[in-house]
Amino acid sequence: AMSVNICTMGELLVEFLSRNPNQGFTQPGEFIGPYPSGAPAIFAAQVARLDYKSTLFGCVGNDDFGRLNIERLRHEGVITDGITIIDQAPTGTAFVSYRNQIDRDFIFNIPNSACGHFTAKHLDIGLLNQCQHIHIMGSSLFSFRMIDAMRKAIEVVKSHNGTVSFDPNIRKEMLNIPEMEQALDYVLEYTDIFIPSEGEVSHFSSSQDHCESDVVNELLNNGIKHIVIKRGSKGASHYRLCNGEISECHVSGLATRVVDPTGAGDCFGATFVSLLLAGYSEEKSLAYANASGALAVSSRGPMEGLSSLTQIENLLSSTH
Ligand code: ATP
Ligand code: MG
Repeated sequence: AMSVNICTMGELLVEFLSRNPNQGFTQPGEFIGPYPSGAPAIFAAQVARLDYKSTLFGCVGNDDFGRLNIERLRHEGVITDGITIIDQAPTGTAFVSYRNQIDRDFIFNIPNSACGHFTAKHLDIGLLNQCQHIHIMGSSLFSFRMIDAMRKAIEVVKSHNGTVSFDPNIRKEMLNIPEMEQALDYVLEYTDIFIPSEGEVSHFSSSQDHCESDVVNELLNNGIKHIVIKRGSKGASHYRLCNGEISECHVSGLATRVVDPTGAGDCFGATFVSLLLAGYSEEKSLAYANASGALAVSSRGPMEGLSSLTQIENLLSSTH
């Protein structure tokens, strides 16, 4: 495989999961954690699990939550030299309560946590120069400082012909952050590989037209090279332009026991991007990413469902 170094940057946090369904946050209940989390961290760990070079940029506080996160990432093989430990704020946290298998509520402490202090000045440009690809999560665009750092990082990676992937990862709890909306459009402009969920596609229509195929058409004609739409238990689809025509392929979701959906999208994206950049075909990258997502939902904890190439191949061969 080609040796490509994939970086990502953004929120590093620990997560606490409600033990019982319908527990909510309005009365005392049991929570399990801390689990290392943050969409970029899960993505980076999945890239490393597949044995590709993975570099993560961000901030944690000078506390055990931060140390837990860094130690786990290091253990996974992620290059953690771009993670700064700061004294000004504690490590970010998220509390998650499941209403059912699909609907979750979150309480986030991110913009005011250590990762909210990450700025362009924390970026290790030497380390960034070693990366040929940057993956951006929309959930990371939560502060003007982080957005600034993101712009700088995209500029550096693009300046040496690197590529950009983008997962909007929109959380309803975060959409009221004023900088976020504009930043989503900014990142989209530089995106080569776009990896939204089915429900997020219409958000990126330039008109009132929310028909999925129209939005896909528009985005591909605006220069995005690959669009991969995640459809949860229904699977995923890939679209690109081939001689001016849309070429598409689809995979249906693999049967799996759903224990915890958090992280599926991140593992899916990491697997798709890693394999595509390593030279796998779009069809094969999509099938492997689909298996990686199915494996992710069957483990409890955001970063506990990572899979190796062998696990993915075993799942795929058992379903044929
Ligand atoms: P999130 O809401 O956490 O950001 P997402 O929308 O980014 O999630 P999903 O569509 O939930 O991502 O999951 C990503 C991929 O993982 C799906 O496209 C599919 O390939 C796989 N997957 C997710 N849930 C299931 C499931 N219940 N059964 C089988 N495969 C699944
Ligand atoms: Mg997601």
